[in-house]
Amino acid sequence: MKAKALVLEKKRELSLREIDLPDHLGPDDVRVHIHTVGICGSDVHYYTHGQIGPFVVREPMVLGHEASGVVTEVGRNVSHLHVGERVCMEPGIPDPNSRAAKLGVYNVDPSVRFWATPPVHGCLTPEVIHPAAFTFALPESVSFAEGAMIEPFAIGMQAVVKARMQPGDVCVVTGAGPIGLMVALAALAGGASEVLVSDLVEEKLAIAGRYAGITPINVSHESLREAVDKRCGQDWGADVVFEASGSPKVYDDILSCARPAGAIVLVGMPVEPVTFDIVSAQAKELRIETVFRYANVYDRAIDLIAAGKVDLKPLISETFDFDQSIAAFERAASARPHDVKLQITLDA
Ligand SMILES: [Zn+2]
Repeated sequence: MKAKALVLEKKRELSLREIDLPDHLGPDDVRVHIHTVGICGSDVHYYTHGQIGPFVVREPMVLGHEASGVVTEVGRNVSHLHVGERVCMEPGIPDPNSRAAKLGVYNVDPSVRFWATPPVHGCLTPEVIHPAAFTFALPESVSFAEGAMIEPFAIGMQAVVKARMQPGDVCVVTGAGPIGLMVALAALAGGASEVLVSDLVEEKLAIAGRYAGITPINVSHESLREAVDKRCGQDWGADVVFEASGSPKVYDDILSCARPAGAIVLVGMPVEPVTFDIVSAQAKELRIETVFRYANVYDRAIDLIAAGKVDLKPLISETFDFDQSIAAFERAASARPHDVKLQITLDA
């Protein structure tokens, strides 16, 4: 099937053009007319750098993996979705028979195919075919824009699940970028009494600080450790520290800000290997968890939004028409400090 799409031709070259895309609707698939797609840091990174770690763009690839839309056709085995239903899609498709999938950790299936991760095309195109098992109905109260925010929010959900939080936990999140905010909001929904969010950029912290329960800490003025001491008592620490900046510089801080027998959860992805003081982690018997995407959290994420317990709407900074996709990516690549999430709508 030939369709118009936002194509990353190679590093630093985007075009909005016709491209050949798969059109086979299997018995367990749905066809979805795409409504809204969010621009993710990873899309922008492929655009500006042509690769993320081992994933290298070697041939033209359609971008986008944060999508909502409307079901237009269902495969013959599909019973839980129907034509006309509003949905959002989980962009990673594992092999259901893989060892990882059988363990319930399909996000770390080595053979997972993930939208807009080379060589797999993404969803910035009017129509996609997707497994129904990874397609989720949106309740009436959840908009298409919010539906397209479920993907980044799912990472926050995964971080909180991995943290094994308890009601009333005091949490720290290092990094107030989109993922840091998603982690902080998921932590509040998961029972945190307070989340201290640190960053160097005042504009980002101001957005975080608009949420009740989030205390912004500007680490260019105030040390994170002192802020944590003020909140949790001298030389104790936060119950859970989430690292969401990807900066190697925060590692000393996250070790010193976690309480004895607390947890640190690594969400941000440093570009280079990081030096890490193992003995100070051992001296507190810290539990260290890592996060790679998410598994089995989409339905819960949608439920939290529908229940009004998490409001992602203030994080949508601007919406562009499909025809303006390239301008939208330029804007995202310019990384304005006020921008949290830019979205593209294909159904204006
Ligand atoms: Zn994303």
